[in-house]
Amino acid sequence: MEFFPYSLPLRVPYRWAKGEQLERRGLLARVDLDGAVGWGEMAPPPHEDVDGSARVAEAAAVVDGLDPQAGDFLEQVDAREPYMRIRCAIATAWLSARAAREGKSLSSSLALDGEAAAEVVPVNGLVTDGDADAAADTARRLAAEGHRTLKIKCSAARAEDLVRVAAIRDAAPDAILRLDANEAWHPDWAAAHLKDFAEFSIDYVEQPIPAGNTAALAAVRKASPIGIAADEAALDETAIRELLTAQAVDALILKPQRLGGPDKTLAIIRLAAAQGVRCTITNSLETAVGVTTALHIASLHGQPIPDCGFGTSRFFAEDVAPPPAIVDGVMTVPTVPGLGVEPKNFG
Ligand SMILES: [Mg+2]
Repeated sequence: MEFFPYSLPLRVPYRWAKGEQLERRGLLARVDLDGAVGWGEMAPPPHEDVDGSARVAEAAAVVDGLDPQAGDFLEQVDAREPYMRIRCAIATAWLSARAAREGKSLSSSLALDGEAAAEVVPVNGLVTDGDADAAADTARRLAAEGHRTLKIKCSAARAEDLVRVAAIRDAAPDAILRLDANEAWHPDWAAAHLKDFAEFSIDYVEQPIPAGNTAALAAVRKASPIGIAADEAALDETAIRELLTAQAVDALILKPQRLGGPDKTLAIIRLAAAQGVRCTITNSLETAVGVTTALHIASLHGQPIPDCGFGTSRFFAEDVAPPPAIVDGVMTVPTVPGLGVEPKNFG
């Protein structure tokens, strides 16, 4: 298995609390099994700067001395307790190569008996405008483009957010609306705020209160007329099991990078489904390799597939390969053997 660092210019600067980034760095993994090639991606959290050569060395150490031809290759990788985002790259490349060798797409090869990969996966539209009129314009445009679900970023500015969401609901009367509070609401008033939003028919609110207090989230859910989803709190399998046991969520936001790759993400989707909890699959800021990986994973969520957070390729000025297109609000799942993406100028 080989690793290649990438550094890609962004079309839109990525802003965060401590500055802004004009490029995106991560690494790709590539493995060849009897001529069948698989690719995978490691993308760091967007605010984390990456030393490409150090990450390549770290990834190479994880697979050092292991034989990708071995059927238990991934178990051997896991025994070394790799960083989950590096595991995601390794597992995606290996599972894609194995799928390609069988002549199957990644999703078909990961389907259990009784599961079938969907042909298309719906993608949500994102509304971040702070101004209510601008937010309504964005919502109207996204709905016209075919997005049936709109995700609205919220903050602790309670009155302003109610005005924005009211304007968005007027502009897109048939849309499924989700809110994302990114931990900004205080547990003391979160439940009251959720009741204020109920008239706008909201699907769910992502991470209303800070992560790390499962009992508090369960209490908010119990008092809420709107569904509750965990994102920042859905850190890893242990945290997710705790959320499910406490009946703290109606939905989980899953990022394959954070969870360690396709197989681990699918295991969580199946675990959640058994308890009636649906999963929304989203990307970090990832290249076409990462977006396509997440697309395969989402195609195996039972119907209806919750609209996914895959509209991130537009942030890139350049990509390693053409990313899946969003047409009428959906992405088409590749059916060719393997991942269905061939990065250029690598390997
Ligand atoms: Mg979120």
